[in-house]
Amino acid sequence: MNIDNKLNEYYSSKTCKYCQGLIQDPSPYGCCKKCEGLIAEAYHQVKEHLARFPGATLTDLRRELDIPFKVLHHLIKEGRISLLDDFL
Ligand SMILES: [Zn+2]
Repeated sequence: MNIDNKLNEYYSSKTCKYCQGLIQDPSPYGCCKKCEGLIAEAYHQVKEHLARFPGATLTDLRRELDIPFKVLHHLIKEGRISLLDDFL
């Protein structure tokens, strides 16, 4: 048995996927309360924007909604939003 892997698993389940801070309470998305709120709000804004402008790109979202790229990338990585093009 690899102790390092076990430890990594333990710590990654207890740290926020977004800010790497410690998580007090379990969250369905693996983020701390603060980031969960931030990400949920960004997600809501993005969904609304995409409903209005279906072809919107990452650059459009960044410009129109003023959401940090880090949040947008997180949402994409988690598969919560998908954009047509120009994401890295
Ligand atoms: Zn966090």
